[in-house]
Amino acid sequence: MIATVLEDAEVGRILVVSAHPDDVDFGAAGTIARWTDAGIDVVYCVVTDGAAGGDDPTVSRADIIGLRQAEQLAAAKCVGVSDVRFLGYPDGRLEPSLDLRRDLTRVIRQVRPDRLVCQSPERIYERIQVSHPDHRAAGEAALDAVYPDSRNPFAFPELANDEGLPAWTVREVWISGGPEPSHFVDITDTFPRKVAALRAHQSQTGHMDNLEDMLRSWLSWSAAMGGLPEGRLAEAFRVITTG
Ligand SMILES: [Zn+2]
Repeated sequence: MIATVLEDAEVGRILVVSAHPDDVDFGAAGTIARWTDAGIDVVYCVVTDGAAGGDDPTVSRADIIGLRQAEQLAAAKCVGVSDVRFLGYPDGRLEPSLDLRRDLTRVIRQVRPDRLVCQSPERIYERIQVSHPDHRAAGEAALDAVYPDSRNPFAFPELANDEGLPAWTVREVWISGGPEPSHFVDITDTFPRKVAALRAHQSQTGHMDNLEDMLRSWLSWSAAMGGLPEGRLAEAFRVITTG
């Protein structure tokens, strides 16, 4: 399937919604570095507090929240992103609730992105970790917030009436980590910054001696699927026109 994709020159702002700190860096950091290099403003919205992450029993769950936020801010910096918003939902128990749809609609109306990146609400069976329940819930709620909530002036009327946030239509969605990717971004040149971003998530990746090899193997596979030349690395997305 050939995706019709907006030219980057038509895109002023991009919002990335992800369930956990580090998801955006595994899924899209190389692509995001290309966008910020092209002068596009990118904002991250991390839905959960990340308190169920890491494997160090000596770090308290209360401390891990602040630690993971700091790690995500440092990772964002590696790829040119400085605006990171944390919604603070409990890690591991996320549902695509009306509360979450309202909170994502608020962020969409604040940021007014042309393009939104989110995780897939669909499970894939090839790499089970990609389809964590929180990822699927965050993806489902983000898509519901794109259509119909954020563009419907009568959805969550308190956002317009009390917070002065009028309806906004997101023109395009890029779904990461789902079945049937349709668009492959060559990130060979920004790969070192993706690795640096992932290394910034010390509590999650500090023990992964083979991180770079693992990433090269995934990204080479995506590049081959996208028909890129041998030796290139790619991140894969399904692109949907939502305008
Ligand atoms: Zn995750």
